[in-house]
Amino acid sequence: MASAERRPPLVPEVPCIDMHVHLHPEWLARAIERWFAEAQWVNAHPFDPDAVADTLAGRGVRRFCFFSYAHRAGMAREVNRWLAATAARLPQAVALGTLHAGDGALDALAREAFEDLGLAGLKLHLSVQRFHVDDPRLFPVYERVEATGRLLMLHVGTLPYRDAYTGVAGFRRLMDRFPRLRVCVAHMGCFEHEAFLALTERFEHLYVDTTMALAPSAAPYVGAEPGGITDATLERYQDRILFGSDFPLIPYDYDEERRWAWDRGLLPEVRRKIFHDNAARFLGLAAADGG
Ligand SMILES: [Zn+2]
Repeated sequence: MASAERRPPLVPEVPCIDMHVHLHPEWLARAIERWFAEAQWVNAHPFDPDAVADTLAGRGVRRFCFFSYAHRAGMAREVNRWLAATAARLPQAVALGTLHAGDGALDALAREAFEDLGLAGLKLHLSVQRFHVDDPRLFPVYERVEATGRLLMLHVGTLPYRDAYTGVAGFRRLMDRFPRLRVCVAHMGCFEHEAFLALTERFEHLYVDTTMALAPSAAPYVGAEPGGITDATLERYQDRILFGSDFPLIPYDYDEERRWAWDRGLLPEVRRKIFHDNAARFLGLAAADGG
């Protein structure tokens, strides 16, 4: 990361939509900061929602999608209320809710998240939440998500580590059962990006995000191979890739999460799709609204 630190700020030629931002209620943010500090992770940016929104606006990010997570049963309702209240204060933000497979009355929880709180969908982090993506307890929720056209953001890939809850096999079973789901797989599905990307050819509403999967600065932190995803792959799947940053949970400057697209010399129209158009379509934003 040292070589990139002093480079001039990036001025993208397109308005960006950032699909992967973390905001948490104060009490949860403190707990997460402690956890990351113990894991020797240097968090360079505050979790304060207004500071995050200001930073993103200053970097030319027109819209961003944010989420938190319930790492245990019984806390999703409170977190969802906070997410909805925070989104209401930040007009450029789209909030995804959370729930835990161990929660009771899961479908009622999802209904409340979507209809009463107006959340755009759900984020599940299978490694942190420790359940399987194709856990049958979640089927009524997926039915509702599919029927109402809500969104799913899934951390179901093996970056930065593999465990029993991640991997393409379980995800494939989910999509075979609910093929119309509108899903974004975080981190490009790394380290199985080829298998996840291949699934976009079978499932019409399946996307991946770039978060920490392409930035050379991220590689040492997540164990990725810098340049492991080729330009040819990005070009081939250019209609299904969404920019995401993991801000503010990155131990380097925001620009490092997107500079790869300029350093690699992707065609401007490919950058436009990855940084804006694909996300506007995924989020269902009108052209004028999203751009
Ligand atoms: Zn993340």
